[in-house]
Amino acid sequence: MSIAKNVEKFSDLLKEYKHCKLVAVSKTKSEQEIMEAYHAGLRIFGENKVQELSAKYEKLPGDIQWHMIGHLQRNKVKYIAPFVSLIHSVDSFKLLREIDKQAARYNRTVDCLLQVHIAEEETKFGLSEEELDDMLAADQAGALDHIRVKGLMGMATFTENEEQVRREFSALKKLFDKLKDRNLPNVAMEELSMGMSGDYLIALEEGSTMIRVGSAIFGQRNYN
Ligand SMILES: *Cc1c(COP(=O)(O)O)cnc(C)c1O
Repeated sequence: MSIAKNVEKFSDLLKEYKHCKLVAVSKTKSEQEIMEAYHAGLRIFGENKVQELSAKYEKLPGDIQWHMIGHLQRNKVKYIAPFVSLIHSVDSFKLLREIDKQAARYNRTVDCLLQVHIAEEETKFGLSEEELDDMLAADQAGALDHIRVKGLMGMATFTENEEQVRREFSALKKLFDKLKDRNLPNVAMEELSMGMSGDYLIALEEGSTMIRVGSAIFGQRNYN
């Protein structure tokens, strides 16, 4: 199927989930492919590498909202701070503090999601519930003026076992709801970023407000 057709399919699906946004994950994909999705109506694109994100931002239309979805190194925050519209992958207070510092240089407030470790695999980045609690404290996230915590992000285990994926998403949603009920300074629990090409349907059923979809829109990635 063409990119435009795939976008149409997702637009139709999301009519049933009106609270949910589609982040088109365009990593490794060309400007031309991104423009095909753009012309089909998409405006939110996600990338996982700072250099690629910056290069695409420079060249592509100014009304695109660029999301950083991959692991972010502190020394690279300065390159995306001027324009990034949401960082999904904040996994330490040091990183959050650096984002705050760089955002201040540009007179911006950068929206961030805290990435929570929900998968079984050791390899996936993310905070434990305890680390998350610490970061949300008034003297941590609450004390920064140029970031705003907008919600949580999580990646489920890469498995065929749908029940396990559902369990992991459901646990993240519970945590999200719990934090929403607490009135934490500088925290607005509005976005729950979960679900990718292989598990977005489960994520939608479990309450995702942002699915991050790459290959189901653009086709398989070719890493050379
Ligand atoms: C690549 C990536 C995605 C999209 O993956 P697909 O399986 O192609 O949809 C989503 N989230 C993150 C963090 C990614 O790195």
